[in-house]
Amino acid sequence: MYLDANHSSPRQPAAAQIAEHIPQYLNLKVVRIESAHLLSVNPAASAQATARALSIPVRSLMARPDRVTHRTSDTEKWDQRSNVEGPFKDFDDFYARGVDRVPTDVRRYNVAGHSCEVIIPERYASELDAGKSEYDKRLGPADLPALLDAMPNSSYFRKIYLSDLRNPEDAWVNQTGFSTDFRAAMSMVNAELTTYMTERSSHLRRDVLHEWSHQLRYEYWDTEITERFKNAVDLESDWKPNAYAARNNGEQWAVLGERMLGNSGEEFLEAANFAPLRTIVYMRALKHCLDGVSADRRSIDHSYYVARQRYVDEKVLPVAQKKLLNLIEHGNEDEKVWAAELLRYLQCEGLIAAA
Ligand SMILES: [Zn+2]
Repeated sequence: MYLDANHSSPRQPAAAQIAEHIPQYLNLKVVRIESAHLLSVNPAASAQATARALSIPVRSLMARPDRVTHRTSDTEKWDQRSNVEGPFKDFDDFYARGVDRVPTDVRRYNVAGHSCEVIIPERYASELDAGKSEYDKRLGPADLPALLDAMPNSSYFRKIYLSDLRNPEDAWVNQTGFSTDFRAAMSMVNAELTTYMTERSSHLRRDVLHEWSHQLRYEYWDTEITERFKNAVDLESDWKPNAYAARNNGEQWAVLGERMLGNSGEEFLEAANFAPLRTIVYMRALKHCLDGVSADRRSIDHSYYVARQRYVDEKVLPVAQKKLLNLIEHGNEDEKVWAAELLRYLQCEGLIAAA
């Protein structure tokens, strides 16, 4: 899920300008990546061995109450679904009539090792503390340290809200047709993650990485990454990782992020294989993110993320380049322009250069 009001498009060169320069992109060659030898994947390795080398260990997500400290209690306004049934004219109308801002007593927590603030309604925190059986599996503040440790840059979560209610926006999503019984488990708005009655599960790490990926995209909103990812999605429309991804490019990005950062080496390689262009663009953003995180705040999985990113620069880039050159020669007018845009972008990023 990602809910945001930021629909402005980042700057981009005019398509006509790109089309004019297409011939020069045909002469670009992949730049040798200086880190190639760092990968323990040897060229003759079987697909299974490569997948194994690129797997990320499944770690314990055990609760760490020792790393969570209750700081303050106060009151803030939380969005809550109103009694108005709808239907609603548009999103603004939904927010005006369908959502109330309700003063809510909350507790605020700090998490050792991370800059993120955790906020939970007082009524919910005391139910969790009381150990009621119906809340056995519910995600609480003490479950967050292990999840934050796994994020490539945990500061992308400025705040985490643990809600004991449904996302009020479910009603809007249901009205607009994705599904009639859609229930968001989490959402991300302006670097603030909210969980909605979320339970611990085997896919919790993956789900949090999905939300984290939304923020990764927004961190680089002012660069070309958003537009180039759109080109990549349009050029690779034959690969649909799941139905939810098809909602929009933000979901395409976040669903891809589950594969790029998830534990399974096979699923990572499958995505890279079916969608090399999307993979290349996503991994550009990840590289900039990983380069920017200070050594004392690195993820416990940092070296695995770096290995995957380098694998993409080394092994997936030549495949992507070949695909783009082929599209420039044989694609339709739109495809030629999108492919050239992507090649120009890879050149700007220093990944390919004139022969
Ligand atoms: Zn999403």
